[in-house]
Amino acid sequence: MLPAGAVRGGWPLPPCRTGGPAPVLTPGISCLQGPGFGLIQFALMSSLRTHSALRFPHRHLLGIKDLSATDIDQILDLADSYVELNRQVDKKQNLLRGRTQINLFFEASTRTQSSFELAGKRLGADVLNMAVSNSALKKGETLIDTAMTLNALRPDLLVVRHPDSGAVELLSQKVDCAVINAGDGSNEHPTQALLDALTIRRRRGSLQGLLVAICGDILHSRVARSNIYLLNRMGARVRVVAPPTLLPAHIDRLGVEVFHDMRAGLQDVDIVMMLRLQQERMHGAFVPSLREYYHFHGLDYEKLSRAKPDALIMHPGPMNRGVEIDSEVADDIDRSVIREQVEMGVAVRLAILDLLSRNLPANSSAAGAK
Ligand code: ASP
Ligand code: ASP
Repeated sequence: MLPAGAVRGGWPLPPCRTGGPAPVLTPGISCLQGPGFGLIQFALMSSLRTHSALRFPHRHLLGIKDLSATDIDQILDLADSYVELNRQVDKKQNLLRGRTQINLFFEASTRTQSSFELAGKRLGADVLNMAVSNSALKKGETLIDTAMTLNALRPDLLVVRHPDSGAVELLSQKVDCAVINAGDGSNEHPTQALLDALTIRRRRGSLQGLLVAICGDILHSRVARSNIYLLNRMGARVRVVAPPTLLPAHIDRLGVEVFHDMRAGLQDVDIVMMLRLQQERMHGAFVPSLREYYHFHGLDYEKLSRAKPDALIMHPGPMNRGVEIDSEVADDIDRSVIREQVEMGVAVRLAILDLLSRNLPANSSAAGAK
């Protein structure tokens, strides 16, 4: 337990607002107070406190590829505690007080951007959303110009989505703050894979030994890539199920089994992860028609009947209902965890911001740190 006024990450925790018994302070929670000080909060405090000593050995979160199984477990354990926090009435914390988080989105997003925004605000950061497609980039600003502008704004945490694979990593080499990849081209979308893992782990207890089918537009999907890395690392078995035109060459080198037929691919799986047909990334025809795609590759009850009877249905969103997934299947409250995935998204992003903030320089803005 940290005493009142204790310093974590170099800056003092705020004093407790009420009098009474000495407050329990943790990095994630500043103080307990009022009539709501009950068992649930106490359990939540203890749980966040358990993780307070952890050190995350990465300055940025650029991809799952860079993470060990221990890193992943650590993120998921902390995220689990944040799920509980998110279900409280008072969700506001001070962990990032004084810090600035910029969400820099070169590509549209609803869930990812809004959950990063919520997470930053819940931890007390000043959060600025920059949608670059509407401004400087259109006028020819390069990524390097953007980095220089950002450095002048002195953020501590930068959340970036970019249409080009590798762009986020490049930017991370040019800016002075911690960078989180919120999706780069068809490369990685690490927080999506982490929130998927959290959803599965909470339902199934562990990822170890599960058989997971990732189905649909694997070729254009950063979600598929991050999930393949994560699931393999955590001891699950991965199948990819897609028509040959929607599979990258040599996908089998990533340690997955490849299927072209949905019924065969879904046989006995524990988890069915559907992917959106990413038509905005397709130049030319990858599928004969949407109707035919649905017929052969859309998830309906008939194809789903091949999976285990309690198999979970997942989708990162946004969904093309009637293209890759039947609407009723998507909304099936017994099988689909699609809405739960969105909830877990906020918890995972809270955990990532928390962990990366532990490595920020203590008393000044991150500018200058390398
Ligand atoms: N999961 C998508 C994203 O990464 C969904 C969305 O755009 O709403 O943002
Ligand atoms: N929202 C996810 C992503 O940004 C999946 C999708 O867009 O289909 O990659």
